Amino acid sequence: MSALVYVEHHEGEPVKGSLGVLGKVAQLGNEVAAVLLGTGVEGMAEAVGRHGASRVFVADDPALEAPLPQPRVDVLAKLVESEGFDNVVFGASVLASDVAAGLAARLDAGLNWDLVDLELKDGKLVGKRPALGDSVIAEVGWKSEPRLALIRSGTFEAAETGGSADVTKVPVEIQDFSKQAVMVEQAHEESQGPSIEDADVIVAGGRGLGQPENFSLVEDLAKALGGAVAATRAVVDAGWYPYSTQVGQTGKTVSPKLYIACGISGAIQHKVGMQGSGTIVAINKDPNAPIFEYSDLAVVGDVHEIVPKLTELVREKRGS
Ligand SMILES: Cc1cc2nc3c(=O)[nH]c(=O)nc-3n(C[C@H](O)[C@H](O)[C@H](O)COP(=O)(O)OP(=O)(O)OC[C@H]3O[C@@H](n4cnc5c(N)ncnc54)[C@H](O)[C@@H]3O)c2cc1C
Repeated sequence: MSALVYVEHHEGEPVKGSLGVLGKVAQLGNEVAAVLLGTGVEGMAEAVGRHGASRVFVADDPALEAPLPQPRVDVLAKLVESEGFDNVVFGASVLASDVAAGLAARLDAGLNWDLVDLELKDGKLVGKRPALGDSVIAEVGWKSEPRLALIRSGTFEAAETGGSADVTKVPVEIQDFSKQAVMVEQAHEESQGPSIEDADVIVAGGRGLGQPENFSLVEDLAKALGGAVAATRAVVDAGWYPYSTQVGQTGKTVSPKLYIACGISGAIQHKVGMQGSGTIVAINKDPNAPIFEYSDLAVVGDVHEIVPKLTELVREKRGS
């Protein structure tokens, strides 16, 4: 099997999700190539090599500067055809999902999305995809090549393998129709501390906080721990916290080392977004809250009493 992994990057760094996918594909036992598209991207090839790619294709062109899918589809379609890759794997993000869908249409290829694992069966790629509200895992395959796979974000942890990659520059030819969309403006939400996708520690708040102002409890604890703040859909829908922090089936999938859930019931739709966390601590006043069924540490009590005390203790320990 030959595989190409699309490596997304942000502010000059490959994103962890893409590197995790790269590592997983490399573990399947075949040589894996990666592709970097953008401007000034060649410098990232070394890091990509250290995460499992034996070859890195670099397409560096002003036409690829804006995070728009169609120019990327143009370059990828040619690369996949000329190199004959029979598998193309993406770590899900808004852009990667658009690129994967565009590439599937361009190459008339099958795309399996929301995969949480990959394996080889008889030398062919098989994907694993949660179904029925993530209560079962279905095995999915492809009827034709190339096989396109989109991996659920946060599924595989990035790990360095210590290897290095040969770098190959790729010519960039953009179709006229791919120049029709232009980036008018790009704005970044100002945030302090790590994003929930990258954080080692996440402190998440739910409806049990009582009111939006009480998110300051969660924010203080996250700050003391150097972590990020996440939220449930119930509070996001109520306008208590931004949508970008929602964890779960219709939000983000996260896998921090530590996830502290404050006033969260632990509905299945929330669980699927955080069950991959290393250690789960839940604080809930209801001893029968479903979240306790899958927590490593269950704290039965009121978030308004426990969270400030915990923050104080962390500050004391850290001397901050
Ligand atoms: C199709 C679909 C998709 C969905 N996607 C998502 C998703 O992506 N993410 C998501 O989170 N949800 C999602 N949901 C919603 C999900 O089903 C739950 O409704 C939601 O997760 C509940 O949020 P919550 O835990 O904040 O609120 P609740 O379920 O209301 O839980 C609040 C908890 O706080 C506890 N509590 C109350 N007061 C205190 C206190 N003072 N101290 C300590 N504990 C207290 C209560 O005992 C309770 O357990 C989805 C639902 C559907 C149908």
